[in-house]
Amino acid sequence: MPRKIDVEALCAEKGLRITDQRRVIARVLSEADDHPDVEKVHARAAAIDPGISIATVYRTVRLFEEAGILERHDFGDGRARYEAAPDAHHDHLIDVESGEVIEFVDPELELLQRQIAEKLGYRLVDHRMELYGVSIARPKS
Ligand SMILES: [Zn+2]
Repeated sequence: MPRKIDVEALCAEKGLRITDQRRVIARVLSEADDHPDVEKVHARAAAIDPGISIATVYRTVRLFEEAGILERHDFGDGRARYEAAPDAHHDHLIDVESGEVIEFVDPELELLQRQIAEKLGYRLVDHRMELYGVSIARPKS
């Protein structure tokens, strides 16, 4: 589900001061569609501006996350992974062998979750759904 979210524009909207290094990191995050961890964000940012340290990337993603610009995920491997906060909700399926992350939306599942919350006396305002799986090998014809 490739989607371009303009992280730099979101920074401006939230009133965050944008420096050259933050702009590069924002661009890397805008272009990522693979939920990168900090090391990956750093590698891509440093390819554009070698002066960007991993500490700067850590500080910047934390700042963006606190501003609601990024979502942080933990897909079970103990590494924090980031994506630009999507305008439209989606859930994740994680291939536990390859680490690949597949995005999906299922209207029936969304409805079911709201109904469960209602039965428990709540109006659902958010949820996270992570499925963990191994790819089923398809027989060759
Ligand atoms: Zn995602």
